[in-house]
Amino acid sequence: MVEIKYREKIQGYSVDLKTFDEAVAFINKAAENTEGLQVVTINPEMIELANKNSEFAQILNSSGLVVPDGVGIKIALKLKGINQEQVRGIDLAKKSLELCSQKGYKCALIGAKPHVIEKAVDNLKSEISNLDIAYYKDGYFSQEEEENIINELIQAKPQLVLVALGAPKQEIFIKKCLELHKAVYIGVGGSFDVWAGEVERAPEIFQKTGFEWLYRTISQPQRFKRIYKTLPLFLFKAIIEAVRDKFKNSPERK
Ligand code: UDP
Repeated sequence: MVEIKYREKIQGYSVDLKTFDEAVAFINKAAENTEGLQVVTINPEMIELANKNSEFAQILNSSGLVVPDGVGIKIALKLKGINQEQVRGIDLAKKSLELCSQKGYKCALIGAKPHVIEKAVDNLKSEISNLDIAYYKDGYFSQEEEENIINELIQAKPQLVLVALGAPKQEIFIKKCLELHKAVYIGVGGSFDVWAGEVERAPEIFQKTGFEWLYRTISQPQRFKRIYKTLPLFLFKAIIEAVRDKFKNSPERK
């Protein structure tokens, strides 16, 4: 097994305190050793979802690598006195694809609308030379079709699989695949939409200042409901947790 350097719990869910480069190295090692690895790119919405879905909660806590994708996670860690860089899933997934092309690994992409996955595959192939996409499929399949898709995926023997079905669907799907085929699997949310050019990535200034979520909410107003319902509650719980931790660790209590 690849060794986990350091993990912290946020509201009961594990987060790996790795830098972007450390996360890439971890993925590289797992792919090299053909170890099965589920990578979760965690954000506050996922934590709130997991509170209502025990299967998802169990997957979050048993995943081999959980990177802090959302700025809310970075803030929750900061409240606990931990300075952690944001490790964005979309960047980690792109870097992992580049790794595949350098090392001659096969990759697979599952998810998004049919025209989106087609376009994303075309764009990735022209952007990353020698990228071997051994299998791809859109994410709008029925329960009956799922078994077939998993079989096709296994036959393609990829070392890296990116799954974009949204949470928790993608993490549950990944868990099923991982039991049958050892590879590095990353749940990548809306990344294929960005790579296909269907959704615009927030300009760098928004990414650097931690306001990517605000840009995405303005450009995709349908996201507002999701954020408005989860983020304030998540931040409130993060403050309570940080205060409780401080109290527990204060010298008078030791
Ligand atoms: N999606 C899919 N099948 C489904 C539901 C969603 O392929 O049954 C895709 C959807 O088209 C989009 C991605 O999953 O490409 C989810 O994107 P979302 O913006 O919800 O993810 P986030 O980036 O917020 O995690």
